[in-house]
Amino acid sequence: MRVAFDIDDTIADISRIVMRKVNRHLKASHTFKEVIESKSNKGSMLWPTYIRFYRDLWVNRHTGIRLLIDKRLMKSVREYYDVAFVSARGRNSITSDALRKWLRRHGLGGVPLYLTDTSDEKATLKYDIYVDDYPLMVKGNRQLLLVHQHHNMHVKESDNVIRFYGVNEALRFLLRRARSQR
Ligand SMILES: [Mg+2]
Repeated sequence: MRVAFDIDDTIADISRIVMRKVNRHLKASHTFKEVIESKSNKGSMLWPTYIRFYRDLWVNRHTGIRLLIDKRLMKSVREYYDVAFVSARGRNSITSDALRKWLRRHGLGGVPLYLTDTSDEKATLKYDIYVDDYPLMVKGNRQLLLVHQHHNMHVKESDNVIRFYGVNEALRFLLRRARSQR
């Protein structure tokens, strides 16, 4: 089975850090959910400000970005599943070199990385399981292991959407499932 892990807010601790900078800069107390919702509002400075600090974090400060996965668990999962990282940050994102360096630094440089331009596009790639904090529209037999975040609290579980309170819980679920099928 093929499993795709998202990067931002799934395996990398991002929006929490960026929001701290955004709020300090704007002297406000916005949530990341508000940032996402502001995207379509052309008059709002929230999304452009978020992106500015997001890029700065990845390009200039990526050595400090916390890895959220337990590497031992990930190593075991990779014995049973065909694992890749998939990020909808854009194919030509200025953050992609830094992302590759960051993955190598954490010993994950051997895992294939695919970049897409949109989340919708991500959901159409040929993966059986997606581990993501974004409510991807997965179709058919595909499954979304939704990693809980404040910004996805409104998303309901369904036949193909299961919520986990952390990416390592999703990794343990994958391991249990693989081992029970042996
Ligand atoms: Mg994400």
